[in-house]
Amino acid sequence: MLSDGTKIDSPRFLRRAEKKLKKAQRELARKQKGSRNRAKARVKVARSHAKVTDARREFHHQLSTKLISENQGIAVEDLAVKGLARTKLAKSVHDAGWASFLSMLEYKAQRYGRTLVRIGRYEPTSQTCSTCGVKDGPKPLSVREWTCTACGTVHDRDTNAAINVKTAAGLAVSACGAPVRPGAIPAQREETGSHGLPSEPRAA
Ligand SMILES: [Zn+2]
Repeated sequence: MLSDGTKIDSPRFLRRAEKKLKKAQRELARKQKGSRNRAKARVKVARSHAKVTDARREFHHQLSTKLISENQGIAVEDLAVKGLARTKLAKSVHDAGWASFLSMLEYKAQRYGRTLVRIGRYEPTSQTCSTCGVKDGPKPLSVREWTCTACGTVHDRDTNAAINVKTAAGLAVSACGAPVRPGAIPAQREETGSHGLPSEPRAA
């Protein structure tokens, strides 16, 4: 999700590969242990896995190139990998994918002279109202939309978090130099200040 409200879906070639992998896994589960069919099914799962990995990498390459070429500065939410290690989230495919996507963004930013700012996951990006700055308290992941109790703004969870990442990036750069997490945020299109990153003041 980008801070301008753009939602980026995984491309069809990736979804198709994932679907095939799921099917292969289901078939494997049905085969009898020790049977020759099971061995064959296992090979099929391994192959499908490799295809999903390739498709995901291709998608990340396309997207990172697009974001880097269209934006002077990008703020992203970093993964607190250590903190997550003991939770179920750590196993999430999305987290693993996010880490590799970030490393692509990073080297492309370097190569093309763009600014990449990482915002730590400790920032309560999904709890803070991006309009008035009030911290509205934790929300379960199932809550996709919420209304700020202070100012009444209705937020899409991910867009609001993306805007907060962008705002925090401006603060982090001017304050200390820069900490990174998910929700790629293209910074403002126009180049502002010496960093080319947003630096509008924040109401909290
Ligand atoms: Zn508010």
